[in-house]
Amino acid sequence: MANKDQTDTARMEKIVSLCKRKGFIFQSAELYGGLNGCWDYGPLGADLKKNIKDYWWRKNVQERDDILGLDGSILTHQAVLTASGHIGGFSDPMCDCLLTKARLRADQIEPQSGTAYHFTGASHEESGWSIARVYSVLLNQPNQDENKARKTAKEFYAQFLNDQQISPKKLTLAGETTSEEIDVTNFNPDNGSLLTEPRDFELMFKTQMGASADENDPNATAYLRPETAQSIFVQYKNVVDSSRVKLPFGIAQIGKSFRNEINPRNFTFRSREFEQMEIEYFCRPEDGLRLTNEWLANRLAFYETIGLDKEKLHVLDIPDGERAHYSKKTYDIEYDFPFGQQELEGVAYRGDYDLGKHQEASGKPLEYFDEATKERFIPHVVEPSAGCDRTILAVLCEAYAEEDLTKEGGKQDIRTVMRFKPCIAPIKAAILPLLKNKPELVEKAKEVKNLLQPFMNVFYDETAAIGRRYRRQDEIGTPYCIAIDFETLGEEDASLKDTVTIRHRDSMEQERIAISDLLPWLLERIR
Ligand code: ATP
Repeated sequence: MANKDQTDTARMEKIVSLCKRKGFIFQSAELYGGLNGCWDYGPLGADLKKNIKDYWWRKNVQERDDILGLDGSILTHQAVLTASGHIGGFSDPMCDCLLTKARLRADQIEPQSGTAYHFTGASHEESGWSIARVYSVLLNQPNQDENKARKTAKEFYAQFLNDQQISPKKLTLAGETTSEEIDVTNFNPDNGSLLTEPRDFELMFKTQMGASADENDPNATAYLRPETAQSIFVQYKNVVDSSRVKLPFGIAQIGKSFRNEINPRNFTFRSREFEQMEIEYFCRPEDGLRLTNEWLANRLAFYETIGLDKEKLHVLDIPDGERAHYSKKTYDIEYDFPFGQQELEGVAYRGDYDLGKHQEASGKPLEYFDEATKERFIPHVVEPSAGCDRTILAVLCEAYAEEDLTKEGGKQDIRTVMRFKPCIAPIKAAILPLLKNKPELVEKAKEVKNLLQPFMNVFYDETAAIGRRYRRQDEIGTPYCIAIDFETLGEEDASLKDTVTIRHRDSMEQERIAISDLLPWLLERIR
């Protein structure tokens, strides 16, 4: 069952720390205190991200005959975003806590019930200072000490004191009344303080184009795209005309999107710059609902093939009234992150809304002509829209494991291992000569490295004891370690000459294999 509130902060902290320590993900501009909501993928993270994007592209574009790729520009014409409804519509209602100034998304505040304490102002007798201003505090727990409400109110009024040395405790409150409130959302759930009325907060990043761009010239204004989908709709006609595709068909795109999120949080989960992997799948109107369900199944299967546990994936069928008005069906695919169950991807049946809007605004026909039936109509669209960074985060959270390998009576031995599926692991194989001061071993190991390197990411390591080197690879999720040992040289048993030991990351089992079989053996397992 869905466990929205089940969180594991300690686990999340360990994952974030490993990501930095091992070079998966760093805070952007960390050197200068960090750029909030922006992240840089380090050497291993860059490879992990590339592997996930490549795998998505392979499954959705390369291995299908009905989906084509697109790589649209990030800078977006304002007319596109006006037609799509983003300009003027792409904002979140926000309210501020009157006490702490914390900014909250109005639509995400849980309704609360309790006793509200209202005040009309406060004064400080000794200095003669006073303020007339209404303020309220909600106590939402049964039998809560009413002095808590008064203390919060005094802290609120104390913000307006000229003399900040005066303790809030010295203030006298005026005009106290109470009321019983049921399911209200205008108080801060963290401290009970009254919130401001919700105001819209623009989520798009705006920029000026051209050397002589005038801030007030609307024609010089462009936007960083808030989603990759719009360039697909806007180029739909060009793709149809240039590729002669027939319905149903899809256009896929992977790329950066930007949203000025009010409250970036949970590591990379909610960022201001992020990457999306989106498909717009165009179809005849009568096929829309069926294809939406097929895409949902397809996308769930995808997450399983990259290693996410089926039990941790949940489907939310968004009810009427909560979906966008033009959507006949929307599913959210959610995952049990250590910080709770949260959205990974949306699969939405958007009808003919998007192409219809662009046809209307541009005045150019975007209809599809069906040669067989001689019909002309605007295709409907199903949109599986995934977040690349959220997928990476889910994969990191899923892969992280700690195993207690302590032997009886021995020193505590915890093995940290990232159980990435081989197809997405950043490094596929580590090549480890048993000893670095034995030139024949080193030479052979380098031969193996040169054999594999053109086909996959490998890592050569000759430092430290072999056991430690294995553990280092476990921590970064390398599925196979290849040890070059004395048997490889055939010094004791000629039948073992030119064979290597392969150590499996998850089982830690070892097997011997001929160097001549190594490449096909690995290629079969890392796809
Ligand atoms: P949310 O409700 O979490 O803000 P959304 O429903 O607005 O997300 P969509 O507009 O449907 O998201 O975008 C599709 C996908 O893009 C999301 O499922 C998510 O994976 C990803 N995504 C959206 N916003 C962000 C963000 N700020 N940071 C990282 N990924 C994001």
